[in-house]
Amino acid sequence: MTTQEMAGTSAMAAAGYEAVIGLEVHAQLLTRSKMFCSCSAAYNDAPPNSNTCPVCLGLPGTLPVINRQAIEDTVLTALALHCDIPPFTKFDRKNYFYPDLPKGYQISQYDLPLSRNGWLSFTVGEREVRCGITRVHLEEDTGTLKHAGDLIHQATSSLVDLNRAGVPLMEIVGEPDLRSADEAREYVVRLRQILMYIGVNDGSMEKGSLRCDANVSLRRAGEEQFGVKVEIKNMNSFRAVHRALEYEIERQLGVLQAGGTLVQETRGWIETENRTVSQRSKEQAHDYRYFPEPDLPPLQLDRDFVERVRERMPELPEARQRRFTEQYGLSAYDAGILCASRDDADAYEAVVAAGVPAKLAANWQMGDVARLANAHHVPLHRSGLGVAGLAALLKLVEGGGVNGPTAKALLDELYLEGGDPAQVVAERGLAQVSDADELGRIVDEVIAANAKAAEDYRGGKAQALGSLVGQVMKATRGRADAKLVNALLRERLGG
Ligand SMILES: [Zn+2]
Repeated sequence: MTTQEMAGTSAMAAAGYEAVIGLEVHAQLLTRSKMFCSCSAAYNDAPPNSNTCPVCLGLPGTLPVINRQAIEDTVLTALALHCDIPPFTKFDRKNYFYPDLPKGYQISQYDLPLSRNGWLSFTVGEREVRCGITRVHLEEDTGTLKHAGDLIHQATSSLVDLNRAGVPLMEIVGEPDLRSADEAREYVVRLRQILMYIGVNDGSMEKGSLRCDANVSLRRAGEEQFGVKVEIKNMNSFRAVHRALEYEIERQLGVLQAGGTLVQETRGWIETENRTVSQRSKEQAHDYRYFPEPDLPPLQLDRDFVERVRERMPELPEARQRRFTEQYGLSAYDAGILCASRDDADAYEAVVAAGVPAKLAANWQMGDVARLANAHHVPLHRSGLGVAGLAALLKLVEGGGVNGPTAKALLDELYLEGGDPAQVVAERGLAQVSDADELGRIVDEVIAANAKAAEDYRGGKAQALGSLVGQVMKATRGRADAKLVNALLRERLGG
């Protein structure tokens, strides 16, 4: 937490207010085809308006067909969030007119969603948050508009692309159980992690396949009744969620403390200007005139179906993190980092299963491997070295085949291009020198050639040892066993 955030939170507490935040997250499913037709759902991979057909273009006389995979993925998500799956669900038409909505309505779910009454729990600071999940339902995404000119002010023209129209979209509605911008950010982080673990969403907030809207209001601490709520849209990163809520909480507090009244409205987050601006008030709110979608049959989800979906459930992040602490003796913090993504956690377990000690594998993966993955934007499992290559390298380290600095240099070199670490070590003669006789001879030579440093060390200047170790390393082209070199020098110099 920055001092500015602390100031915001404590200013509010001092004024006797608390924030009430609920989030609505939209997540695109990773199905091959769209929600109600067989068009490809990979809307970014094709020229504009090419992944379309009469159904998703909304032409008259066409009939939608429900994508079974989308139903399964939504049920899986709902189960991961501890929701009830009612035996009966249906789709409804949500009517409104917008250029990216070719039918003039969106097929969504109104009063009988696919799931309800779940929760997501996590800890922020001292507070154990258990945020209720009102519902997870399924709908179709809209198309996209590309505006010429400056959208905030006045676009001169707009182009519509309907490739995205009809892509399966889950809406995950959270209860107003969050109390700070920190908690809201953590909720999105955890939810995204679960969606990616179960493989239903790619987690990209930048590309918009995961989107978040927030409802936020303030009330006097201890009061039951909610204050006037404001909806915030357009937050497309964890950071944006956090900053927009911090901004909005402070804005509302300012209005209340000045004796003003808040209006129920929708506000958009403008990242570049670091503020929210009013988009529409309650009076301009849509009346969606929901009614049951007449072209789709209601769905009866029998218990066998739900149980078959449940069998697909992988170990979820929280449970895996706990297991990592027990099975591998890692701290909760380290386990949390290693389990942040399923791919990283899989990689870690594969390296350990190959015979690398758990702690050694954790240190390398969280240190140099993470550094390279970030620098190159390539995770370990997709790097040239790969998981097996890392395991081979770390087995050399563990067995004393190479020393730490050599292994690190090899990791840097092989991370992208790949290669067999043992073979590279053999070919280039990089094996660690740990023969006491051989190193002893080199140590003697170094002492003889650096009489001044040796004298300094004998005279009590402890740091003189470092330059002698460095000379031995240089003489062995960096391959010496540093621990042994230290021991040999001390032995000869009486340290
Ligand atoms: Zn289509």
